[in-house]
Amino acid sequence: MTPFISFNPGPSQLYFTVQDHVRAAFREGVPSVSHRSSTFEKIFQATTEALRELLSLPDSYTIYFTGSATEVWERISQNLVLQTSAHLVNGAFSRRFYEIAKQLGKKPVCIERALGNGFEYNLEIPDQVELIAVTHNETSTGVALPFNFINHLKDLHPQAIIAVDAVSSLPYPAFSYDQIDTVYFSVQKGFGMPAGLGVWIANENCLAKAESILSKGYGIGSYHNLPTLHQYAQKNQTPETPNVLGIYVLGKVVKDMLARGITAIRRETDYKAAILYQTLNQHPLLSPFVSQKEFQSKTVIAAHAGEHLPRVWETLEKNGLLPGEGYGSLKSTQLRFANFPAHSKEQMEKLVDTLETIG
Ligand SMILES: *Cc1c(COP(=O)(O)O)cnc(C)c1O
Repeated sequence: MTPFISFNPGPSQLYFTVQDHVRAAFREGVPSVSHRSSTFEKIFQATTEALRELLSLPDSYTIYFTGSATEVWERISQNLVLQTSAHLVNGAFSRRFYEIAKQLGKKPVCIERALGNGFEYNLEIPDQVELIAVTHNETSTGVALPFNFINHLKDLHPQAIIAVDAVSSLPYPAFSYDQIDTVYFSVQKGFGMPAGLGVWIANENCLAKAESILSKGYGIGSYHNLPTLHQYAQKNQTPETPNVLGIYVLGKVVKDMLARGITAIRRETDYKAAILYQTLNQHPLLSPFVSQKEFQSKTVIAAHAGEHLPRVWETLEKNGLLPGEGYGSLKSTQLRFANFPAHSKEQMEKLVDTLETIG
């Protein structure tokens, strides 16, 4: 197999230090480390401290490990919602969270906008909702919501918990953590790692809410309920035998990102997004799928290719570049390009140059 550069949003291109860290982990015996040992506690601590620094997380937040972001959807519904949550739905991932809340017997409200769209500021959200679920970056369509919009949800609903899906945008976004309550991601997107680890970050409001639901005699789940996760996290441990290798590698990758600097990562992300959008804007066969600039994602860039898709795909592939397919119903007309820290400027320039040869 010839090596290719994967612009698929997830699993995506590995961060360039991952292989070395995995080798080192095996050399050091990390996969056999007991999750009740002080060695594990040090790994847990190193990873959570590095992540806290990278994201500038306030002390009121705690970092927990799960199996995936899909698991976090279930945990949020179980632990933070007794009856009703509002879901801002504009694609397949935001919709899936809404469906999970329904499956768990909650009464979620779906506030839906068409694929490729964002939400208006004066959005109507029912007063009684306990939680507002918002997807910062809807991976299926390449729509990112402006920070101002996300921050403004807390002002609209000071009582509601604000839950932000940042699976395909972190570490790029600089969230105002005092305007939200919980945020989560999986590692196989922006962190450039093999799949199989989710990160759930939640503040004290979330813990208090879970404890209050529990104290009223309702179930909040057994495997990863928030109070139990929290109790173990205080000891730098997890309730179950976790993905120790994943937690170790995440800590190393985050340290590499810290060494590079989050400002540099953000600046490069902006640069790479700008050259790709510029190419799409000027291209004879392609155009950005998201037409409103304020909603165009910096980290997952969707292109409308229409009938030209097979030709574009073939040319990219011949040049060792693997795009992501369009999602669901957009599969035959759309291409998606991840723009994560693992994608170098040179790789993005190569993608842009190759796209420009197609006409
Ligand atoms: C990929 C993705 C998820 C689900 O992540 P898993 O690791 O598959 O559970 C959730 N939300 C968004 C926005 C995603 O892109």
